[in-house]
Amino acid sequence: MAKLIPLKQWICDDCGELIEQPEHGYVEWQHDRESNTKHKFRIVHRGDHSPKKPKDCFYPNAERGGDTAMDSVLGDNGRVYLTSWLDPGEEFKGSNRRTVKNLREWVVLFRRLQVPYFEEARLYFDKAVNDGRLGGANEIYFYLPDQGLKDILEEYAAEES
Ligand SMILES: [Zn+2]
Repeated sequence: MAKLIPLKQWICDDCGELIEQPEHGYVEWQHDRESNTKHKFRIVHRGDHSPKKPKDCFYPNAERGGDTAMDSVLGDNGRVYLTSWLDPGEEFKGSNRRTVKNLREWVVLFRRLQVPYFEEARLYFDKAVNDGRLGGANEIYFYLPDQGLKDILEEYAAEES
């Protein structure tokens, strides 16, 4: 079964090692100048928790567009923060601009931070698709924490331990 604690542990997009707790992680992105939007989202170790110390897991300075600590992107507050990038809300008419370049990329980030088991199950998505697991599943079921995602973990995560 699951090895990562859902919504509290992640795999670092830079070094590939475990981020053990939210306080050890960071979300970062690059800034696309042309469209003036965020893209290339990553979840990485916070500087002082990087296994690469004294280096770190962040994008090189020249590529970094912005970042935020995990506590601002998790839970109820996190849902508000992350969706504000798509639309700040109809009360804020002056600034109704979407600040995310690619919606699909945002969905992956959102689910990694907000949908239990997504982070771990995604390690096996390619395998599951190759094995024909999409056959009976629709695009909702496949990502439901207690259904598609748990099925995938039961099938594939156990194999490796
Ligand atoms: Zn790392």
